[in-house]
Amino acid sequence: MSRVPSLEDLGDVSGKRVLVRTDFNVPMEGPDDARIITDDFRIRAALPTIEYLTSRGAHVVCASHLGRPKGSPNVKYSMAPVRARLAELAPGVELLENLRFNPGEEGNDPAFVSQLINGIDMYVDDAFGAAHRSHASIVGPSLTLPSAAGRLLQREVDVLGDLREKPKRPFVAVLGGAKVSDKIGVIEALQERVDAFIIGGGMCFTFLAAQGYPVGDSICEQDQIETCKKLLAGPVPIHLPEDLIGLDAQGVYQTFGIRLPSGAKGLDIGPGSAAAFTDIIMDARSVFWNGPMGMFEDPRFASGTKTVAQAVADTKAFTVVGGGDSAAALAQFKLDDEVDHVSTGGGASLEFLELGDLPGLAALRGAPNAR
Ligand code: ADP
Ligand code: MG
Repeated sequence: MSRVPSLEDLGDVSGKRVLVRTDFNVPMEGPDDARIITDDFRIRAALPTIEYLTSRGAHVVCASHLGRPKGSPNVKYSMAPVRARLAELAPGVELLENLRFNPGEEGNDPAFVSQLINGIDMYVDDAFGAAHRSHASIVGPSLTLPSAAGRLLQREVDVLGDLREKPKRPFVAVLGGAKVSDKIGVIEALQERVDAFIIGGGMCFTFLAAQGYPVGDSICEQDQIETCKKLLAGPVPIHLPEDLIGLDAQGVYQTFGIRLPSGAKGLDIGPGSAAAFTDIIMDARSVFWNGPMGMFEDPRFASGTKTVAQAVADTKAFTVVGGGDSAAALAQFKLDDEVDHVSTGGGASLEFLELGDLPGLAALRGAPNAR
């Protein structure tokens, strides 16, 4: 496999027009025609790459998606608020309108690629969060233009690549979130790489059901029970909760053991499980965490996620957190500075750990300056 070209591989960028694919899919609130950015982290995260280029005399044209406008213009997803913030942070840098206003973006239409690179000399991809998508702006420009990975994309690939190929052991994967089916591929792939799994969140109930425990009205995917049985019979230990917190059939907050009565809903791991998971995380030397341990948006069901987040912050292990909700939980508990790496891509980080490559990276390796 050839190397993904870096910014240095572009050579002299002075006087060149450079298209930079960024991930400016920022959280926003407010009325559709007056949206306000609630967190500009993703804009600031692109600055090292933008500054590398502008300080060497390049003219930078950024392009990003925002939300899911599904192929047509929609004021709610206008880039105008992002453009205003970018103008403050990086004066003189252009930003195209939302890529997903054009159906050619998600459809990877060559005509849309031509439109994007019209008048452009070079291409830089710094949108790790979108690198698992074969969209026009991700895989198209590098077919013809000299191309490179930006600093953010490069760091993601370095960190996640090391975790995948040469983790310090024991390597523990802590997985949670709503659905097993979203994460089954990465669990299967990580079986060959990790020393143990810790599984909490909504997805633990499909595993508990596979072990024969009653799960009440908790989210449970019947069609994944057989897969969970196979994983449980596999060589890698899977640590599941042994106590739970949730609501009983009357909607009253309760602490439960491992068996949920009928009508009860499990919404967090219990304190005993959180303590046991902490011990395993403290003894690990590499930890990858994706997915909250419970419905942490409701403060009644946040304690399992908070305890695990604290353990990930406190352990001496090398720690990587991937996933939008997991990163949001870390930030909510003010622990985001306490981990080694917070990935900017949820789906992309899982797919990279699973497959070791992404369409966006393969595209860069195929660029004319990399071949
Ligand atoms: P990430 O974005 O970190 O990858 P996911 O999107 O997979 O995480 O899952 C996050 C969601 O899972 C949260 O909205 C959370 O409320 C939900 N969740 C976690 N545990 C449960 C549970 N026991 N029952 C229902 N939903 C849950
Ligand atoms: Mg999520």
